[in-house]
Amino acid sequence: MTSPTWLLTHLHGDHTGWTTLEDRPVFPNATYRCHAADWHHFVDGPEPDRRTASKLAPITGQVELFDTDRTLAPGIDARHTPGHTPGSTIYIVSSGQRRALLLGDVAHSPVELLDAGWEAVYDTDSPAAQAARARLIDEIEADGTPVASPHFAGLRFGRKTRASATNNVR
Ligand SMILES: [Zn+2]
Repeated sequence: MTSPTWLLTHLHGDHTGWTTLEDRPVFPNATYRCHAADWHHFVDGPEPDRRTASKLAPITGQVELFDTDRTLAPGIDARHTPGHTPGSTIYIVSSGQRRALLLGDVAHSPVELLDAGWEAVYDTDSPAAQAARARLIDEIEADGTPVASPHFAGLRFGRKTRASATNNVR
């Protein structure tokens, strides 16, 4: 039996909530993967976020870090998109020529995909976050790749076109 793998887009509390509960791993056999830059920033760097470090301490032995864009499993690729957090990561889910992007908090709302200049209050490096969104906007406008963010209303995928805001995919 294989153990489950959890892919973390970044380590803000609203994206790690079910990693641990009452100082124990929720999934003791799981592997948690995230970008090394976030682990260093929030957990084991010189100025860790004490709340995050405490929350994630029970899974420390279950974490596998990556520090380059890579294929994590067939059809799942990680792309480093720093700005929202130092290790913010987009996951690309694909099958054949089809793909979709899981944005994490690179965009909290579709409106951030209309104008990269929007600033999210929780972005740790606003210019880098804006640059990441600008690259993303160019990419998804060019090929119509569906995208989703956990903060988009209804958790729906959408596509961005030059003529309209993100449209829901049915
Ligand atoms: Zn966040």
